[in-house]
Amino acid sequence: MFVANATAGIKLVADAFREQEGGFWFGYHRNCHTSIVGVREVAVLHRCFDGDQEVEDWLSASSNSVGSDATTQTKLFAYPGQSNMNGRRLPLDWCGRVRSKDATYTLFDAAAQVSTAQLDLSDASQAPDFTVLSLYKIFGFPDLGALIVRKASGHILQRRAYFGGGTVEMVLCVKEQWHARKADSLHTQLEDGSLPIHSIAAANAAIDTHLELFGSLRRTSRHATYLVEKLYNGLKSLKHANGVEVCQIYKDRASTYGDAATQGPIVAFNSRNSLGGWHSNTEVEKLAAVRNIHFRTGGLCNPGGIASSLGLAPWEMRDNFSAGQRCGNDNDVMAGKPTGMIRVSVGAMSTIADVDAFLNFMREFFVEEQLAAAPQAMDPPTATLASRTYYVESLMVYPIKSCAGMRIPLEQPWEVQKEGLAWDREWCLVHRGTSTALSQKRYPRMALIRPTLDFKQGLLRVRVVGGDDEVTVPLSANPNVFTAAESFNEQSTNICGDIITAQVYNSSKLANFFSEALGVDCQLARFPATRKRSKSARHSKAHLQSHQKRANTQMPGSFPVTLLQRDQHLEQARPILLSNESPILIVSRSSLNRLNERIKASNGKAAQAEVFRANIVIAEDLQAAPGTEQPYAEDCWRHVRIGSQLFQMLGACRRCQMVCVDQATAIKNEEPFVTLAKTRKIDGKVFFGQHACHVPDGAEVSRQMQHPTIKVGDIVMPFENDSAVR
Ligand SMILES: *Cc1c(COP(=O)(O)O)cnc(C)c1O
Repeated sequence: MFVANATAGIKLVADAFREQEGGFWFGYHRNCHTSIVGVREVAVLHRCFDGDQEVEDWLSASSNSVGSDATTQTKLFAYPGQSNMNGRRLPLDWCGRVRSKDATYTLFDAAAQVSTAQLDLSDASQAPDFTVLSLYKIFGFPDLGALIVRKASGHILQRRAYFGGGTVEMVLCVKEQWHARKADSLHTQLEDGSLPIHSIAAANAAIDTHLELFGSLRRTSRHATYLVEKLYNGLKSLKHANGVEVCQIYKDRASTYGDAATQGPIVAFNSRNSLGGWHSNTEVEKLAAVRNIHFRTGGLCNPGGIASSLGLAPWEMRDNFSAGQRCGNDNDVMAGKPTGMIRVSVGAMSTIADVDAFLNFMREFFVEEQLAAAPQAMDPPTATLASRTYYVESLMVYPIKSCAGMRIPLEQPWEVQKEGLAWDREWCLVHRGTSTALSQKRYPRMALIRPTLDFKQGLLRVRVVGGDDEVTVPLSANPNVFTAAESFNEQSTNICGDIITAQVYNSSKLANFFSEALGVDCQLARFPATRKRSKSARHSKAHLQSHQKRANTQMPGSFPVTLLQRDQHLEQARPILLSNESPILIVSRSSLNRLNERIKASNGKAAQAEVFRANIVIAEDLQAAPGTEQPYAEDCWRHVRIGSQLFQMLGACRRCQMVCVDQATAIKNEEPFVTLAKTRKIDGKVFFGQHACHVPDGAEVSRQMQHPTIKVGDIVMPFENDSAVR
């Protein structure tokens, strides 16, 4: 019968067993998918079989043996044809053997297996009682699942109490309660409600197309088996210069790559550096995205397989959970152990070139071919010379978060506030459905939205590159000046994971303007615009991501010690500040030049300063002799004085593939992320630029203190230790 997906098929079976007299006993192999594991919650008794041997022992024990599962209850044993974690294929003969046990049925999860293997149920005496699969995993389309029932076991499903439209012939409910179920065929008794008829019709076309393209699933199987053997051997052979293997592959002992009976076309692994430290899978994933490679990482919906492969004890998993680990977040290495893995799969569509591309990708970014003196390849900060002078090359503000920046004109003094440069990220665009702030990572076209601040008219003006229209909103935050069209309402919004109250403009003209520009339904919002912001309003600048704060305390000694100490010191000294905001981002021209030299050496596209979305670009004195620049000197700075204002450095800025969006065209490139990953990686994370905040100082209440400003051309004085600042 057709079901929405494999999980829906599993639930149908679980519901039926639940209705059996006295409930049911449920046993499942540890390699099961999460959707199978969940069945235990409706069983009276359940048991997780920790490996094949336990299953074998259970199978060979006589059916009336005493033990926790030796009851007269109906029993259900579930296991997957193929592990969705590492592709291991489990014995098919268990189903037939289970049948010899009293009142024990089998639920066979074929969802992972069927995309690259022929499922053969022709011998009903050996076939599973219940088989679930997802058609989309074979054909890509339609989104449909199936539950295949062995007819002799169909009576189990007939005990359902529930009926719905489609599964009943007549129902009385007024004055008398009676109903007659459909009785003709099993599937009509179970298909509640309207069937996904268009998807079912499309399945015919999908089957025909698949046959036309690939011949048969047996051919697909041979093809995928051949490719995965190559992939496995390739990954296994990757070694660092010191001989340390790059990949820890999670292969089952019972499986052999190249043998389709025991191994499907999946390799699950984690990668490590030459010192044995684990690479963060989130970081591997970011680089893969730049290279158009897609794989899955994390817990992979296979809790038992993950726990046993990674050697995670229940207490460790609970500990990680309390420390914030969730499926899909980036806590991928905790207490020195990976919490998930990388899963690479090949199928009918994959080619040898795909396998080679993936192996080359691993070689390019994760194999240390020469051992550096420092444990990680890293452009080192150059020693700062006291005589060196720096100046402000440019100042930028980004009035609308993640949209284009506005260059501050030469010689125009610009106010610095606790929260950063005045007018920086004062507004944002909020998704109408989810109330989440939009970002260029998902909507690169935001780079084409150009806001400017018109102080003469008191307006924020916004245009879109290539468009004729302009919209405006008053700069004034006083609601009294707002006409009805410019009114707003306060709304909770989600900005980088923090819930913040923002003022969302009601104007449909504004909403249409931005929605059309981006092709997503969104609205303009402003943060509580009183110049004195509430503490939570500072969240608006949240860019110093929480994972970075963790990262800083984990930096290995190879990175300038000052960076590490500085952040620890700061975390004690300014806890609120660090946890809530990153007011200003500083980028060094010399560092950018160094980065671009590296990019050009590999024929890449040089990066503009804009992609880093810095507020302040600092350059070295023009008088300096050529070739004496000091890239990454800022890694060692603890404070800088810019003009008459003092700033505290908060730590390096962690980067993702968003830096690959060309700010003039909104087109994504590979660079500069690829080269950054090779030259600016610390503890598996990629850094460029420095976070900073303004430190009000000076004893007397001077004009500069009441209205602190900086401007392009200001002299910049770095300090590498705190005492020098005083
Ligand atoms: C994908 C998968 C499932 C879940 O399938 P859905 O179609 O998402 O319900 C269950 N088991 C295995 C082994 C799978 O690979």
